[in-house]
Amino acid sequence: MFFVVDIDGVLAASSSAIAFYLNRLLDLGIPDEVIEAMPSSAEIAQRPEVLAYCARGEEFRDRFNAAAQNAQYEAEVQQRKLPIPGSVEGVQALTRYGRVSYATCRKSRTKDTTVDWLVRYGYPHSEAVYCCDNFLYEKYLVGYEQAGKDEQIVYIDDLAQPLMAGLRPLVARHRSAAQSLIGRIALLAYGVEEPPTWPTPRDPYPVLALPDWSRLSTLLGVAVEKVGGRDLAASA
Ligand SMILES: [Mg+2]
Repeated sequence: MFFVVDIDGVLAASSSAIAFYLNRLLDLGIPDEVIEAMPSSAEIAQRPEVLAYCARGEEFRDRFNAAAQNAQYEAEVQQRKLPIPGSVEGVQALTRYGRVSYATCRKSRTKDTTVDWLVRYGYPHSEAVYCCDNFLYEKYLVGYEQAGKDEQIVYIDDLAQPLMAGLRPLVARHRSAAQSLIGRIALLAYGVEEPPTWPTPRDPYPVLALPDWSRLSTLLGVAVEKVGGRDLAASA
């Protein structure tokens, strides 16, 4: 069994990391304790300091929006993130079933930051980080290239729907990889109670909901059982 685990939203909580970064970068002047009390970085958009900054003109609004959009790729933001409760123990539990790798849409230039973060918080197999710089569907290729030829692969991702949609370009651009993967992969959709459903009449591969890491042990057996028996025709 080979696991391909996403990082942001599955292991790393964004919390207020982006808000801290924006406050420093744009010199917004929001006190640290105010940011610390924010349940999420999105709250920053409502702050009077931000409204005043954006009111200075279109150029400022654009600068704020661009910085907010790119913040997730900054090492400073990634370093400041904290582990999602239960995620370290959860990934450790995965190693009892097989090998673990990490596939992320973070850029390769911050790969070292990501490895350091995984080491700092005690995630196993922390050197096995793969950055999918261009397309989300590259996560499928991580499984294809890193797992054994016939090994079962379980993906764990909070962007389940986009990853499912990524099967189409994978089939179009990497047909033999897609062919090899269908029938031996499953997806655990992290952070939802109900898994997203396929728009196709037949499910190309099974998708199960993993609402939080505490539900892992019950779900894993089901996921393993469900992997297999599908053909590529359903996804084309
Ligand atoms: Mg994610």
